[in-house]
Amino acid sequence: KKHYIMAPGPTPVPNDILTEGAKETIHHRTPQFVSIMEETLESAKYVFQTKNNVYAFASTGTGAMETAVANLVSPGDKVIVVVAGKFGERWKELCQAYGADIVEIALEWGDAVTPEQIEEALNKNPDAKVIFTTYSETSTGTVIDLEGIARVTKEKDVVLVTDAVSALGAEPLKMDEWGVDVVVTGSQKGLMLPPGLALISLNDKAWELVEKSRSPRYYFDLRAYRKSYPDNPYTPAVNMIYMLRKALQMIKEEGIENVWERHRILGDATRAAIKALGLELLSKRPGNVVTAVKVPEGIDGKQIPKIMRDKYGVSIAGGQGKLKGKIFRIAHLGYMSPFDTITAISALEFTLKELGYEFELGAGVKAAEAVFAKEF
Ligand code: PMP
Repeated sequence: KKHYIMAPGPTPVPNDILTEGAKETIHHRTPQFVSIMEETLESAKYVFQTKNNVYAFASTGTGAMETAVANLVSPGDKVIVVVAGKFGERWKELCQAYGADIVEIALEWGDAVTPEQIEEALNKNPDAKVIFTTYSETSTGTVIDLEGIARVTKEKDVVLVTDAVSALGAEPLKMDEWGVDVVVTGSQKGLMLPPGLALISLNDKAWELVEKSRSPRYYFDLRAYRKSYPDNPYTPAVNMIYMLRKALQMIKEEGIENVWERHRILGDATRAAIKALGLELLSKRPGNVVTAVKVPEGIDGKQIPKIMRDKYGVSIAGGQGKLKGKIFRIAHLGYMSPFDTITAISALEFTLKELGYEFELGAGVKAAEAVFAKEF
């Protein structure tokens, strides 16, 4: 059976990238490899829209998150953590593990923190050193106003960290222009790669905290990566770096603004289809990474991803944490085109019919096509 990944990570990997990964593994301390590493890390700056260095090492997105916490937070430091989904929860758990004094902005899952809420928390906690946010909360399909939040934090003595694991290369992100201090991501989402690489970029404001952090760290010690840049202090994931180089070339060729716009159109089409099927979005501020849809009443939510995958070969995601069984999530992330979205909506329609949900077959596909006919 032909398989389609329509989940928010891992996302589909283009053949041109896969074949890069199949090239011979060369020794990592050769001038040849160090020059590949340098070219790759330099071109990663374009996707982050930054002049700061980008560091890449073997780990998952969570490893990039832990790197941020271990390097910025000392035991007892006050930090503000926004929790509005599973990945906000992860920031909180990491900050707990490193002994931070946590001020939590707890929101309903599906809500988006506002710049005003951040400002209020900062006014109440002027001694907070770091703010941890999730640009795209993958568990709820919500994107925050990161630009507006950075406008608040820029002038203050606080470091703004954002988890862009699912946002990078899907949602507009201008690290330097907006004043986001730390951006972390993983490879298996908008970068169109398999899982296995963590990427992080930080500015001078953040480096001041890195120098001061008293937290234990070794593999994740950013000072070692800065010292050896562009070389890696340990053995880099050589073949993943080949693949990252190719992915970044592809993104550059398409143009980062066009990549963001493609995601916007795919998001609009998916939302239009969901609405036409009489279904409801979970998120109050839906982004263009993944669409989270409430399971209609009377339908067994866990059956939707299962039937779509087993019968139609289309992998979407179910709900995570407290949203298990209550929502399903269709991604429009990374190497995807209108025909991926149409495939997912079509498989969803067949599945919903089978589960007894009443609607006019084709209504979702028709609505998605209407968006594409106008926009693509
Ligand atoms: N943050 C966000 C927003 C994510 O979507 C994910 C992965 N779903 C992670 C963090 C964790 O990444 P990983 O599973 O690669 O550790």
